[in-house]
Amino acid sequence: MSDGQAATQTRVFAAPTDDELAVCVAGAVAKLEGSDPVATLRWAVERFAPRLAVACSFGPEDLVLVDLIARHQLPIDIFTLDTGVFFPETLALWREVEARYGVRVRAVRAAQSIDEQAAAHGPELWRRAPDRCCQLRKVAPLASALEGLAAWITGIRRQQTPDRAAAGVVERDRRPGLVKVNPLVHWSHDDIWAHLYLHDVPTNPLHQQGYPSIGCAPCTSPIALGEDPRNGRWRGLAKTECGLHVDAAIPAIPATGEDGP
Ligand code: SF4
Repeated sequence: MSDGQAATQTRVFAAPTDDELAVCVAGAVAKLEGSDPVATLRWAVERFAPRLAVACSFGPEDLVLVDLIARHQLPIDIFTLDTGVFFPETLALWREVEARYGVRVRAVRAAQSIDEQAAAHGPELWRRAPDRCCQLRKVAPLASALEGLAAWITGIRRQQTPDRAAAGVVERDRRPGLVKVNPLVHWSHDDIWAHLYLHDVPTNPLHQQGYPSIGCAPCTSPIALGEDPRNGRWRGLAKTECGLHVDAAIPAIPATGEDGP
């Protein structure tokens, strides 16, 4: 190992103070609100790389971000929360995106496999305790993926849900010391799909089969004509978010056997 490599590996980043973060976010919002997403991505790279990553769930918005990052050769780590219950179409799209853009979409996984989770908490936890399932398979892995980062990038848009209506182009994450960057926050559904068509970006074929919003296979169903696009997620339940982008109370993780069948 060269001295340069050793220096890189032992580089220490000073954590910003609360005041510094507040100034950083306020300045970014003033500068970037309504701006081209590439400008926002470049700002994030200049400020935060290499402690910067984008969470990709292979939805239309995330694919726009991956397309922009790859075509503009931006040094941004890309990861996906692989819950172990993706649709086969989503798994195929993952490989297609990597091949098309020559990027690696890093898998971040839960501590337990689906089988291990079933042994600990009973089968199909998503049917009985979806908040707990999301906590185990999405929220906790995301927390581990974000450790050590200064900022993360998401594809959320204000028009998607009432919970997201007040999202900023740059905002403080609820996790201390972390910034959240939302380059597409002001884009419409049509803006997203126009970009995907214009740049021939690969998308999930399930979108053409009545699935406008695609998550884990057990919790995603097609919608009828005229239904809200998010109605296909956790159908029949009050749940509307997986907990990645809201300040919802995080349910306790059940002890082994607590959720037995
Ligand atoms: S979306 Fe469903 S299967 Fe996926 S982590 Fe949440 S509850 Fe579990």
